[in-house]
Amino acid sequence: MPPSLERLQQLLKQLPGLGYRSAERVALHLLVEKPERLPALVDALQQAARSVRRCERCGNLAEGERCEICSDAKRDQGVVCVVENVPDLVALERSGAYRGVYHVIHGKLSPIHGVGPEQLNFASLRARLAAGDIREIILALSNDVEGEATCHYLTSEVLPPTGGPTVTRIGFGLPSGGGVLYADPVTLKSALDARRSYS
Ligand SMILES: [Zn+2]
Repeated sequence: MPPSLERLQQLLKQLPGLGYRSAERVALHLLVEKPERLPALVDALQQAARSVRRCERCGNLAEGERCEICSDAKRDQGVVCVVENVPDLVALERSGAYRGVYHVIHGKLSPIHGVGPEQLNFASLRARLAAGDIREIILALSNDVEGEATCHYLTSEVLPPTGGPTVTRIGFGLPSGGGVLYADPVTLKSALDARRSYS
């Protein structure tokens, strides 16, 4: 096998959902079966790498300083759903059940994996809270020990001790140990509707 093809296959194999066989199929597809697709793909990858960054406000993916959700006047900017990662946000958006905005903390507290508060996106949440325009924080973190510890840290160390927003948590019917990512849209909608006070 030519070294370039081998390298392409090695890189593809590292992508989620692609094992050795799938990586080989994709590489051969792009180089042998449909080489005319390659320039557009290369261009899209370069364009995305250049222009996609984190929203300065919420941590979602954005092409400008703010993401489309933070820039959307039709969304309720006073209700903020805190999620671990962008795919969680995507799952909630797909459910169509939520009209507020988000805050993506990019992980959860995990001392075993060396993730402390300083690795998570709390600074911009503090800034949003200080600006005083948040009425409700919805915690949509996974219902495992690390998610629980992160919720506790948020309420005790990030949110103001008094006079802060209402804090609620979803979680009903979500897969045990999993987050919103693996829940179907109907489950997510009922989990959001049935959120309850967290303290
Ligand atoms: Zn945003």
